[in-house]
Amino acid sequence: MLREEAENREAHLSPEHDTHPSSGVGLHDLLAYNHALERQNEALQQNQAVIEQARDYYHKLYEFAPIGYITLAHDGRVNAANLTASELLGVDRPQLLGQHFSHFIAHNDQTRWQQLFPSLLASPNNIRQAFDFRMLHHNQSIFDAHLDCLCDTPANGLPTIRMTLTDMSASQRLDHELQLAAIAFDSQEGIFITDADTVILRVNKAFTAITGFSPEEVIGNTPKMLQSGRHDKVFYRALWASLNSVASWQGEIWNRRKNGELYPAWMTITAVHDNTGKLKHYVAAHIDIGVTKAAYEQIERLVFYDPLTNLANRRLLTERLHLGVAASIRNKRHGALLFIDLDNFKLLNDTLGHDMGDLLLKQVAQRLTGIVREVDTVARLGGDEFVVMLEGLDKRAEEAAISAEVVGRKILDALNEPYQLAGHDYRCSCSIGATLFYGYTIPEVDLLRHVDFAMYKAKHNGRNNLCFFDHAMQTALIERTALEADLRQALAKSQFVLFYQKQVSLDNQIVGVEALIRWRHPELGLLEPAQFIPLAEETGLILPIGQWLLETACRQLEQWAGQAQPRHWLLSVNISPIQFHQPNFVQNILTLLDQFAANPHQLKFELTESLVLININEAIAKMNALRDRGVRFSMDNFGTGCSSLSHLAQLPLDQLKIDRSFIHNIGIKPTDTLIVKTIIAMTQTLGIKVIAEGVETVAQRNFLAQQGCTLYQGHLFGQPMPWDEFEAVL
Ligand code: C2E
Ligand code: MG
Repeated sequence: MLREEAENREAHLSPEHDTHPSSGVGLHDLLAYNHALERQNEALQQNQAVIEQARDYYHKLYEFAPIGYITLAHDGRVNAANLTASELLGVDRPQLLGQHFSHFIAHNDQTRWQQLFPSLLASPNNIRQAFDFRMLHHNQSIFDAHLDCLCDTPANGLPTIRMTLTDMSASQRLDHELQLAAIAFDSQEGIFITDADTVILRVNKAFTAITGFSPEEVIGNTPKMLQSGRHDKVFYRALWASLNSVASWQGEIWNRRKNGELYPAWMTITAVHDNTGKLKHYVAAHIDIGVTKAAYEQIERLVFYDPLTNLANRRLLTERLHLGVAASIRNKRHGALLFIDLDNFKLLNDTLGHDMGDLLLKQVAQRLTGIVREVDTVARLGGDEFVVMLEGLDKRAEEAAISAEVVGRKILDALNEPYQLAGHDYRCSCSIGATLFYGYTIPEVDLLRHVDFAMYKAKHNGRNNLCFFDHAMQTALIERTALEADLRQALAKSQFVLFYQKQVSLDNQIVGVEALIRWRHPELGLLEPAQFIPLAEETGLILPIGQWLLETACRQLEQWAGQAQPRHWLLSVNISPIQFHQPNFVQNILTLLDQFAANPHQLKFELTESLVLININEAIAKMNALRDRGVRFSMDNFGTGCSSLSHLAQLPLDQLKIDRSFIHNIGIKPTDTLIVKTIIAMTQTLGIKVIAEGVETVAQRNFLAQQGCTLYQGHLFGQPMPWDEFEAVL
């Protein structure tokens, strides 16, 4: 249209109409004017296009801005809104326009909006005010929004509110995620992030805490600076292969700290790629598992090892035995178990204290490990019980037994060597039970019971001894188990009785009697002490039995008080070491004496050398305490132990009792005959009495009398018998 107009104008100003008749203006001027007009026109057209473009641009900006634009009329209705606003509120724009904006305020914020809106309208022009509101989407979901409002009041019109509406939930989520990432990054795990060339870009605090390297020291370097030198090429090749193929690697790795210390770490490395699959970063997180590892090892030690001696404990032994039995079939070789029990350990513990006991156990453990091979197992089952498991012995049982016995003898010798216990010289023997194993013929639990039982046999055979488990023992083991069950009920069933055996003087006068216990077993008949006292001592039943014994003895003394002859007799009672070492032993006796009105001067306790020697000072103190009340002491089985003269001299003894084995050998075995002579001579030097036990022949008695021993006990004078029989004979 513009062009048409211009063309018309051009035609009008053609040379044929060179001058305007009426204007008098020259043709040239007209042409120039026309050009100027055309240029102006072009500029106008260009401006118009720019304006249209700008309008378009701003329109788009307005419509698609990332925030909503809303204009509210003075009555709170939506006057205008961009597309983003209608999207945020979930309502198409045509429906949105004319609606009250308050419809989109969440219920809880309604009141606040109602109060705010009038004040907004009253506020001065173009002052920005910002508010956070919970908004209600058309679909009833609620979102946090940020409102930036300003009031616009034309000179003589009504105010409107222009506002921007920003959905905060997305940015809040992002904030939250960033927060989480920051927390994760500052976790307990040492983290470093590298670029694709493994150059370290960032490390966290834990990284510095673990490695000792500050961020400045590592950023720009590669993780090579952590390498411990402990891993070979194969290790790193596998690590990279995993990173390249599955973008991650996880495993235990040894690293080096700044101070040079190596530490084991559990490390996870992840390769991070961008959307296009291009490798961007490596993220490595690691924890120092040195402590965990140490704790784990500690736990393992607690579970499988004896904390005192560091030897395997029962659990580990059981496991090893299980494996050993299986291996014995595979290798077609016998294995052996040796059960080692220290003789008199309980006494050491009770008298010198547990610390000393512990010292001894540690030394025993060292000696045992010194004897066996690396492959063998040395275990401590508890207390003073040790088990050695030998493996890979001979195919033939006899040969295997010989090898096991050789080791057993070595153990006996080694444990017999003197010990130094915090300055105390201490000697201790042991008893060993042994058994062979080969395959599954005997259940593993039974193997341990067998070897335990064989050990008891060894103990009964005189201690410092080794004994193999055999078929006879199998039977005996069954019997022992039954006997133990019976023994537990014997007291309650009053099955114990005291027998009395006289002790006579040179002129055959009774000077005293020894009380000797018997067990009237309902099926087995009358049992001698040797058949049940050791069992009672092992099971601790000796304490109630001993108590019964002392009570019975005191009752006997009470009864004697009214009888012509026994009034002057001494009553000898055998005291078990376990009884004697009870802390309340003395008090217990004193109480009994009072309780029964027994004459303490008639009471004599027979102690054994080993009992006294365990803790000689304790023994002296207890003996003296009782001696003050008139109780006397005799050293039983004298000659079989190893007490020195100096020890004997210290003890408040009244009497030595020569062991019956020496008496038996008088005139038979010259050394024993000599011993008898020497003992008698010794008592004369020490100024104490001497009595011979087990005197069976007149020859023995005469020899003893010749040497100066004037007190005797034995079958020659009388057998042990119950009191009523004893009385009858009298
Ligand atoms: P012991 O104290 O040395 O007791 C002496 C043992 O020699 C007794 O054996 C006795 O019967 C035995 N005997 C006596 N005269 C002769 C003889 O002429 N020839 C032979 N061959 N033996 C004779 P018994 O009664 O079997 O007691 C054995 C051991 O049992 C006792 O040895 C003692 O250590 C212990 N015992 C006995 N009664 C008790 C008790 O009431 N309490 C404790 N704790 N131990 C006891
Ligand atoms: Mg005795």
